[in-house]
Amino acid sequence: MIGIIFGPPGSGKGTQAARIEKEFRLKHLSTGEILRAEVASGSPIGKEAGRIMAAGDLVPDELIVDIVRGRLPEAETGAGVLLDGFPRTVRQAQALDAMLADEGHTLDFVIALDVPEAELVERLLHRARVEGRADDTRQAIAERMHEYHKLTEAVLDHYSRQGVPVKRVDGLGSPEEVFGRIRRAIGISSV
Ligand code: ADP
Repeated sequence: MIGIIFGPPGSGKGTQAARIEKEFRLKHLSTGEILRAEVASGSPIGKEAGRIMAAGDLVPDELIVDIVRGRLPEAETGAGVLLDGFPRTVRQAQALDAMLADEGHTLDFVIALDVPEAELVERLLHRARVEGRADDTRQAIAERMHEYHKLTEAVLDHYSRQGVPVKRVDGLGSPEEVFGRIRRAIGISSV
């Protein structure tokens, strides 16, 4: 099974991904987490990505596509893969389509979390106080929202046009409530 958890910054992708990973035994591949680990290790990729991420911009498509191409085969050896934070542009989605086609795989589901923008900003500013992530400043948050609307939202149309089941899920409420909706949506997609 290969699925995508999709949504704007602050929509709860990481929180829900952890639950989906457990329940459906999928390997969680978060490009944001991978990049943050690269930044923390001071690797050449981390050095290139760090400044871009802190400003709230997207790292170049080629860089992130290479990372996913390197990690996907190993992740796919288990029951399945849950992509989180990727694809974030139509070009990334096209690259993923090609990778999956090479292996004779297709996407099983796309879960898109819906959360109003005012709530997203609240959550991210709260996270900034609790976790201190470098890109949770007011300015970087505004830039991430801008990039989401400009480049990332179009990924949903890309999949809808291809007939991939895109399930919109209300992301408001407790993590358990949201997960209940996701579980039902994946259940419907995978039968
Ligand atoms: P959020 O969804 O809260 O913005 P992520 O952890 O998914 O958090 O991503 C953090 C940052 O990492 C993004 O703002 C971007 O700079 C970079 N990033 C992650 N995934 C991608 C991707 N697929 N393409 C380009 N940049 C990415």
